[in-house]
Amino acid sequence: MFKKILVANRGEIAVRVIRTCMELGIKTVAVYSKADKGALHTQLADESICIGSGPGQDSYLNMERLITVAKETKADAIHPGYGFLSENVEFVRVCADNEITFIGPSVDAMSKMGAKDIALETVKSNGVPTVSGSNGIVPTKDDAEQVAKEIGFPVMVKAVAGGGGKGMRLAQEENELERAFEQARSEAEKSFGNPDVFIEKYIRNPRHVEVQVLADQHGNVVHFGERDCSIQRRHQKLVEEAPSPVVSKELRKKIGESAVGAAKSVHYEGVGTVEFLMDQDGEFYFMEMNTRIQVEHPVTEMITNVDLVKQQIRVAAGEELEYDQEDIEMSGWAIECRVNAEDPVNAFRPTPGTIQSFMVPGGYHVRVDTGVFSGAVIPPYYDSMVAKVIVKGASREEAIMRMKRALQETTIEGVATTIPFQLQLFDDPRFQNSDYDIHFIEEHGEELI
Ligand code: ADP
Repeated sequence: MFKKILVANRGEIAVRVIRTCMELGIKTVAVYSKADKGALHTQLADESICIGSGPGQDSYLNMERLITVAKETKADAIHPGYGFLSENVEFVRVCADNEITFIGPSVDAMSKMGAKDIALETVKSNGVPTVSGSNGIVPTKDDAEQVAKEIGFPVMVKAVAGGGGKGMRLAQEENELERAFEQARSEAEKSFGNPDVFIEKYIRNPRHVEVQVLADQHGNVVHFGERDCSIQRRHQKLVEEAPSPVVSKELRKKIGESAVGAAKSVHYEGVGTVEFLMDQDGEFYFMEMNTRIQVEHPVTEMITNVDLVKQQIRVAAGEELEYDQEDIEMSGWAIECRVNAEDPVNAFRPTPGTIQSFMVPGGYHVRVDTGVFSGAVIPPYYDSMVAKVIVKGASREEAIMRMKRALQETTIEGVATTIPFQLQLFDDPRFQNSDYDIHFIEEHGEELI
């Protein structure tokens, strides 16, 4: 097992990782930018080292500095958290060159899943369902027209290097295709330095259903069921739950096996998430695999009783999985709210500033993962999530009631947050009846403000 882990991240996820390390008896090194001086993760770690100024490029994305700190502190592994360098292939290489274990998948697995066209091709050849499409890059607008005619409109033009919803355009019909093609390419070029796009059939009104997987270095892969993350705005998730209200036991088995198949197709190691879109008929299609621990992992932990970060660290150290698929049991219902410092009344605009006071909810089956406290400053440089409130109930109804109670109990003064919006959502009969798709906030968000 590792003796010391450097956590190359900030905020709640850095705190989350440090906590598990403490429970495993592993020493920790926190790193922080000048804007994060005094942050919670720096207080909890055994050592804390400043790595630069506020902007990500000058600190949490500075590979050279991170490696230097890891060497100076004699850390034998680096945990990347999510975001920042967690899916950066170059960083995985640099860690290996310096004989530091990167807690995550191999260069090969990460690069295959990082290129959407290659990922699709790879999982498809392993029997994982994918949306019908161009099967590779579409170089010209004439090719785009031909593919779109074959598969039928509406179609989605997507950047192979895409991420965060960027480089993606919908064409409802033929006369929108040229524009969608050009726009997707130019946005992809600007955002990722690679204009290549492919085309796939547009799925109408889908749910976002994703499966948590865990793989060791010995070829064993298991899944921990699904999460439903259909409540999103601008492709950013706002509420997640496990299990999904639209996934039956039979479907769970099928989608779980597909997720395991996707992981196996790249000889995956570590924790990962296989994302699917599910249409109204219960058909599901592979979207992408996220090769990191995800923000919403706690809802899975709540219903499976598994510390996923602990498992992630164990397998990175070369240990075998502790579970066969049959050993994994799920019980109850878990919901997570991402509490963001954003103003729902003002188009969810970020509201950085000082948290004057923060009262954390508690009680039976309530968990709060956060990196802030009363008096903490939310810097403008990073994402706006300040806390995750996670609850578990015996049933979905109980979980919803408990979440409402927990959010009512939470007070954050000094900055606007998404809590009032989320409270409205839990009161909405459509949410309560699970009658929604990924466009719910886009279409009905105004009614909830
Ligand atoms: P990114 O890596 O940018 O997040 P994804 O491929 O995961 O891109 O797609 C992001 C979101 O875009 C999906 O969750 C879904 O909402 C929408 N989307 C992507 N492809 C399709 C499709 N073929 N049909 C309908 N919606 C899609």
